[in-house]
Amino acid sequence: MQTPVEQIKERLSIVDVVGEYVKLERAGKAFRTRCPFHNEKTASFYVSPERGSWHCFGCHRGGDIFSFMQEIEGYDFRAALEALATRAGVTLTNVNPKEQSLKHELLRLLEEATLFYQRALLTTAEPKEYLKNRGIVAESVRRFRIGYAPREWRALFDHLKSKGFSPARIEDSGLAVRRGDSSVSLGAGHYDRFRGRIIFPIGNTEGSVIGFSGRILPGADTDTEKEAKYINTPQTALYDKSRALFGYREAKESIRHEDLAILVEGQMDVVLSHQAGVRNVVAVSGTALTTGHLGILWRLTEKLLMAFDADAAGIAAAERSIYTALEAGFDVSVATLPEGRDPADLVRELPSRWHDALQGALHVIDFYLTVLSRTVPDVRQRGRAVRERVLPLVSRLRSEIDKAHFIGKIAASLSIPEEPLWRELSRVNAPKGTGEIPLAGKISALVPDQPVKTAQSIAHDRLRGICYWQERSKRPLIEVAALTETLAEFEEGASVVSDARKEELIFEAEQMYGSVEKLDVEIKSLLQSLSEYRLRESFSRAMEDLKRAEVAGDTVAVQTALKECQRITQQLNNLQRHG
Ligand SMILES: [Zn+2]
Repeated sequence: MQTPVEQIKERLSIVDVVGEYVKLERAGKAFRTRCPFHNEKTASFYVSPERGSWHCFGCHRGGDIFSFMQEIEGYDFRAALEALATRAGVTLTNVNPKEQSLKHELLRLLEEATLFYQRALLTTAEPKEYLKNRGIVAESVRRFRIGYAPREWRALFDHLKSKGFSPARIEDSGLAVRRGDSSVSLGAGHYDRFRGRIIFPIGNTEGSVIGFSGRILPGADTDTEKEAKYINTPQTALYDKSRALFGYREAKESIRHEDLAILVEGQMDVVLSHQAGVRNVVAVSGTALTTGHLGILWRLTEKLLMAFDADAAGIAAAERSIYTALEAGFDVSVATLPEGRDPADLVRELPSRWHDALQGALHVIDFYLTVLSRTVPDVRQRGRAVRERVLPLVSRLRSEIDKAHFIGKIAASLSIPEEPLWRELSRVNAPKGTGEIPLAGKISALVPDQPVKTAQSIAHDRLRGICYWQERSKRPLIEVAALTETLAEFEEGASVVSDARKEELIFEAEQMYGSVEKLDVEIKSLLQSLSEYRLRESFSRAMEDLKRAEVAGDTVAVQTALKECQRITQQLNNLQRHG
């Protein structure tokens, strides 16, 4: 009987699973894209539908659909198995409910809480009225699963308990707070974190709810003035604010399609932007933009548009996010909003105002230059401001071409030559860190330095790759055993090749030779270059001998070495003539 893992692999195509996260392009028998696990400009991430495997030549990660889900979602194996089993319609019969992963149980609990909040909204007039006044239509309420947390101490807690969830688990989800023992007046026990608030569920990249953001209902009671306008789920096993993007699931397709992600500040902005027909919008909750957020967006696009208030405070607040995004390699543009307004305000006034603001977006450096030329009329002062504010941004640009472009622009705007700007730029502190995006959960190990490859080792690797590739092929095109044997002659001692390395070599061979007409001709030429390298090595050794013999004045040794050199030259000539 097939194991669940085998069943799942049979039912799900790796291209579909991986394709959920990244846009795959056909490359021969395989598919290719930019790696979702490390920052790169050229695609070196390959997926083979034939072998059900993936591999990245940049960061050397690879594996099957399970390891892909583990890497990209930060799951453990169990969670990856459960997620893919659900998708494949495979029942994991031997699952003891107690063994269910904590994450899985928390997901069920949060789903139950979402439904509870949604129902509470439908039956309470006040929050419904509030949303209506804010211009949010019923369809958006449904789409974003907006809810309401009743103004009671234990409404949700009691509901979840009645559904069989333990107080400890409810606490783990971040939805209940345990009252300190010292709080004698209220007694021990739990109470709901969200009370009297509009609830916006925050999903993971698969769309399951992992946390909430709750907005206080204004004018609710006297207590509210002391309370924060927004509160969010704290850090839990599922919810990590440095990776959570509100609206991601709803925006994903559109971001990919438009090749642009728009970053706004609040949940209301996301919801109303959708209503205005701009769907490639996400928001971070209760934190500045992090490399974790960027890592998720990087799977879909490398272009980021930030919309914020054009006043000084707004610009200052966005600065850190701009730096982070530039260092991560994003192309960053800025849309400025009329003073004191957020995207939600614009949509409410007139949806086309939001469209106009986006249309007028500028590359972040153009944006700064424009702001400075408006606010600092004195050219010398402006030069100083450019050095302090703009050059650090230019230094963070990944592309040298972009750097040159903007240095030229800055020079023109200040009416000075480029040269001093380049000198200033070299003095600007280089950005700290590697700029690598630490992606998907646990992965952040730096790629180990690759030893410099010689042409010889490349030819050797290619031949080994052809062997492994043909070995696994149902109808091999060559005699694998014979080639393996020939190749062994070029190896000093047996070498052990890891499975990951094998997979890499197979992908390489498949890419290079998958569509060539005559594989044997390619192999012959590779073997020939191996022989040639070997002869050249012997030749330089013989030359060394010759030099030593001459220095020592040993005429016999000189003669021997000369003959050896001639012999090798002869062989090299033969090789080239018959090649
Ligand atoms: Zn990679």
